[in-house]
Amino acid sequence: MAYVIAAPCVADYSCLEVCPADCIRPGPDDPEFETAEQLHIDPANCIECDSCVSACPVGAVYDAPELPPQWSHYESVNADWFRTDA
Ligand code: SF4
Ligand code: SF4
Repeated sequence: MAYVIAAPCVADYSCLEVCPADCIRPGPDDPEFETAEQLHIDPANCIECDSCVSACPVGAVYDAPELPPQWSHYESVNADWFRTDA
């Protein structure tokens, strides 16, 4: 299980700055960096360190099993962002 960014995200990039695994995107090297409305966590690389949770000013980051039911689909929203076969 990885951490997941859900609906409240305001794309202020605070989590990206503290992530030790460099698994939050888009980052400065991605074309979506300027226009992103939310960020995403790569479930393949998240080490579940919890740093992003306390860094987020709006409470948008959850450990996947703790996602509120109305945002459960954000687990797929995050994972799909990193798919290269779509
Ligand atoms: S839990 Fe840690 S490794 Fe996973 S996205 Fe958050 S800061 Fe990065
Ligand atoms: S810190 Fe929170 S609001 Fe900011 S980009 Fe990360 S998840 Fe979104």
